[in-house]
Amino acid sequence: MKPADNQAKERLCSLCGLCMVNSWSVKESIQGCVFTIGWLGKQEVAVFGRERAQDDPDEMLFGISRERFVGRMKNPLPDIQFTGIITSIARKAFETGLVDAVATLHRSPEDYFFPMPVLARSTAEILASGGSKPVLAQTLASLEKAYKQGIKRLLVIGASCHVQNAREFQRRFPYLRDVELYVVGIPCTDNVNPKHFRFILSKISRSHETVRHYEFMQDFTVHLRHVDGSLERVPFFSLPKEISSAELLTSCCRSCFDYCNSLADITVGYFGAPLDIEKMYQWVLVRTNKGEELRKLIAGELETFPETSEGDRTAFVKQYAKKFRGDGKDEMQMAGPMSIEDGLHMAERLYQTGPRGLEFVRYAIETHLIRNYYFVKENYPQLLATLVPKHVHRVLEAYELKP
Ligand SMILES: Cc1cc2nc3c(=O)[nH]c(=O)nc-3n(C[C@H](O)[C@H](O)[C@H](O)COP(=O)(O)OP(=O)(O)OC[C@H]3O[C@@H](n4cnc5c(N)ncnc54)[C@H](O)[C@@H]3O)c2cc1C
Repeated sequence: MKPADNQAKERLCSLCGLCMVNSWSVKESIQGCVFTIGWLGKQEVAVFGRERAQDDPDEMLFGISRERFVGRMKNPLPDIQFTGIITSIARKAFETGLVDAVATLHRSPEDYFFPMPVLARSTAEILASGGSKPVLAQTLASLEKAYKQGIKRLLVIGASCHVQNAREFQRRFPYLRDVELYVVGIPCTDNVNPKHFRFILSKISRSHETVRHYEFMQDFTVHLRHVDGSLERVPFFSLPKEISSAELLTSCCRSCFDYCNSLADITVGYFGAPLDIEKMYQWVLVRTNKGEELRKLIAGELETFPETSEGDRTAFVKQYAKKFRGDGKDEMQMAGPMSIEDGLHMAERLYQTGPRGLEFVRYAIETHLIRNYYFVKENYPQLLATLVPKHVHRVLEAYELKP
């Protein structure tokens, strides 16, 4: 039996934390779960009053927004791989009384990269929540604490599965109905189960124990910042095959169709921003009135810049799509891992000639939508119609892929 078949027998679950509590039943948590009711569609209408326009190419891929820009904190927070826009928003939202608590993550004492859900109720607790924990995280377990503590104004920070599940849970059930909910989203893809994380990192880095920041970046390399400040760059093309084996990739992330976290009030990522390892620019999408309120909280502390877009992703996506069309092979995928030196040359060439800024985001989103569509089709055919939002079909059509 293939490992993917093993996983397909299990219910899709991103360990979001909503059903790991006692105050409501697992049945209630699962009823509105994104892996039960599907991505976007009616949930998008519930937030924005409409679904994303299928004839607006950017809205179709990035989701509905009212303002997008590149930005960075003028005074970046320490020990955070980017500049800490999200943590700064959370801090201000708490200190100005806009919210009484923030559902987010601390680092677990067990492992620097493992998350520990926290309902932060002080500035110190909020500041301690910054930085990436690149494994599946039980953020929504804190909704129970908020419920028990009678919190009425709550900020939730999460990946798209957290965001969709939190919003739907609030709509469906009485527990959090009278809570004023603010939501900050991170773009997220290809997260891993904590039990596999150290194995994966040890295969990527020359010294996984000393890694403090770890991110797959726009220059086709993994950036690993070590505790001594040094930066190790490992080209995607030099990664060992075993870390992309079916049992290491989570089925839930391969069944995700919302890379850009489109139901958040504001999304803060990096992949649409120019790459600069000193400035660490970020990409911000303000989506709702509440998102605008959150952005304004840190307006004086933010430097902002217009978005940029360079290159043409089409040939890259077409190349990637080949393996799903059955009329050719993705040569890059077929070849074994390159030496670091060759991989760095390849990454540099692609970065110089390939998609950058918004065009890089379009490339990343389209390739993930295509891959995930065929993953669900093969492994969860009974969920295909439910899980897959409309715009995915437009992407398949654009690359002449069969649904
Ligand atoms: C698995 C993963 C994949 C990602 N992939 C991309 C990507 O492809 N493109 C992109 O632009 N951005 C991606 N991000 C987001 C990126 O790492 C930064 O979080 C984002 O750029 C915000 O930076 P910041 O300095 O403003 O955030 P910070 O101020 O550091 O705040 C980050 C917030 O996110 C929370 N957080 C950390 N890890 C998780 C987690 N696993 N689940 C839920 N919440 C978490 C933290 O607790 C904190 O509240 C990814 C993040 C994760 C965890």
